[in-house]
This record gives sequence, structure tokens and C-alpha cells, in this order.
Amino acid sequence: MKKHNFSAGPCILPQEVFLKASEAIMDFNGSGLSIIEISHRSKDFVAVMENARSLALELLGLEDQGYQALFLQGGASMEFLMVAYNLLETKAGYLNTGTWSDKAIKEARLFGEIVEVGSSKDENYNYIPKGYSVPNGLDYLHLTSNNTIFGTQFKKFPKTDTPLVCDMSSDIFSRQLNFSEFDLIYAGAQKNMGPAGTTLVVVKEDILGKVSRKIPSMLDYSVHISKDSMYNTPPVFAVYVSMLTLEWLKNLGGISAIEEINDKKAKLLYSEIDLNPVFEGFANKEDRSNMNATFNLTDDKLKDEFDALLKEAGINGLNGHRSVGGYRASMYNALSLESVGTLVDVMSEMERKG
Ligand SMILES: *Cc1c(COP(=O)(O)O)cnc(C)c1O
Repeated sequence: MKKHNFSAGPCILPQEVFLKASEAIMDFNGSGLSIIEISHRSKDFVAVMENARSLALELLGLEDQGYQALFLQGGASMEFLMVAYNLLETKAGYLNTGTWSDKAIKEARLFGEIVEVGSSKDENYNYIPKGYSVPNGLDYLHLTSNNTIFGTQFKKFPKTDTPLVCDMSSDIFSRQLNFSEFDLIYAGAQKNMGPAGTTLVVVKEDILGKVSRKIPSMLDYSVHISKDSMYNTPPVFAVYVSMLTLEWLKNLGGISAIEEINDKKAKLLYSEIDLNPVFEGFANKEDRSNMNATFNLTDDKLKDEFDALLKEAGINGLNGHRSVGGYRASMYNALSLESVGTLVDVMSEMERKG
């Protein structure tokens, strides 16, 4: 039986995408060849890459505005250093909102001075810093739009002339934003777009070429742009599956359509967390993520009972990250409202039994 998959990443993708991907493994486009054995220079794969790149820009509303979409390797973690390599000349600002921002800061420090413009480390990252001011003279300001581990999410972004760089790994394509406020967006595919193995980078071309250091080709965004994201062999299968997911999203009505469903899912789960005395939320209410909901049992002795009910209901992947403990329900785009309903039923059963 198919599980209700609340895993934080790699994570659930649309069933239809799994089906199409499995067909292409056996026979891609009726070519008599598998998607994973064709040449990445073949006409059919070049079309996949072009389609994936243009769908990404189209869904984000960034076509014809000087942006390029790239499908790179190395995960979001590689972007922690590539961003600094390509953009950091002297000084950059970072908002420290969790484990991933912290790691991004650590990498960037290898390339220049880093100002921590705001941080929520003092409260184990259960909120999004506010009221900070962005100093002048920064090469860029880096944010993490959704903090996958702690379950917090930026609802408002700073208004500033400083170029904005954003790690959107765990909420890209999940809600409508004015994406043109960002100069560079990156996201590992495995949270909301595809299998692990590729990272989407959307970059405004005019912010590149301003640092004085020499950049190795594989780490140079301009090189990847000049080669249409095919400087070397791209992760063919991961790009193909990402393309299928983006097509699925487009057919569904795009980001605003999925956002409506994501809002419903989050409301359903958070109202249960708030009303059910057996559970308590981890993140600050106003900063709660619509993608990753973190919560705890108010009485740890109920853990075995709750875990057994989850298992019985076919719910997978609900354990919290080791740095937070408790539970985390990841409700990415492909997770249905029905799956959230199943989880909420189990939670209310815990209350009835209590
Ligand atoms: C998962 C995650 C990462 C790390 O991604 P990798 O692809 O494993 O390097 C970085 N940032 C955020 C916000 C994430 O959720």
C-alpha cells in the first residue's frame, strides 16, 4: 500500500511523475532507449533541458527579465560556496535562521567578511528575526526562505537595494512571491521538485562578473550559462524528473493554484496542533512554515502509542530532525490534503484516548 509520505527530503513527488519517469527508464519517447542511456547531447535530451529551464522561469514569472535558470550538481550545499565564489568581493550579509543558513555562512566566510544581520540562534531558531537593519556596502544579502528543520518561514522579505540571494530549497514553487525581488535563487531539487542530484539556480545575469578572483569553470555561473547548463554531463534523470514535476505544476494551474492547496493543508494541521492538548507547536505562530510543521507531544510518555498509530495509518517520515526532536510533518506540493487529513485523524484519536 502506498504510504502517506511526510518525509522532509528526499520527499513525495506526484504519482503521475513517478509513472512517467518509470516509463522513460524503459523507453524514452519511443526511442527504444532508456532516458538514462541516451546521450545528453541527443536532440531529445537537449529539448528536456531547455524545457526544464524555461518552465522554471515561466512558473516563477521571470521570463524575459534577464534571468537564467541552471540545473547544476552538488546540492544546495554546493551553492553555499558558489554564491560566495561568484558574488562576494568584500562583505556580505546573512540572516541566520537555522542549520542551513549557518552552513551557508561558514562557507561564505572562506571568501570574505560576513555580517550576521540577524539571527534566531538564541531560541533554537524557532522564529524569524525582525526589526534588523541591512547595513550599506554589502555585496549581497543571503536569506533562507523556509527553514526545513525548524519549521519557520519568511512571510515578508526585507526591502533593500542590496542584491538578495535566497536559498529556497524547501519552499520553491509552493507559494506566489514577487520572485523578481531576488537576484539569485537556489534550491536542491529533492524538496519540492525532483529526485536528489540536481539543484536549480535562477540568477539575474547582470549581477555576475563583478568579483576580481578567478573562478574555476565548474563553479562559475557564467560558464554554465554560456553552455546552456550543459558544460559537462548534466544529471540527466534528475533533470528529466524535475521537468515532469514542473509540467505537472503548470497543468495544475501553476504556483497560485498549488498555494491554495498548500494553505488548506497547513491550516488543517496547525489548527489541530493548536486545539489538541496532546500536542504543542515548536515554531513561533506568526513565522510557521506552510511546508514543514514542527510539533511535540506535551507528554513524552505517549510517544510509543502515537508512533504505533502513525504506523498503522501508513504515515511515513514524521520524525523531527535530531536537532529539534519531536515531530515534523513536511507538506510539500505533491502531498495531498487527504494525507494531512489522515494525520489529523490520528492526532485527534490520541486526544480521544487521552
Ligand atoms: C535540504 C536543504 C539544504 C541542503 O541541501 P543539499 O541538496 O542536501 O545540499 C539546504 N538548504 C535548505 C533550506 C534545505 O532544506
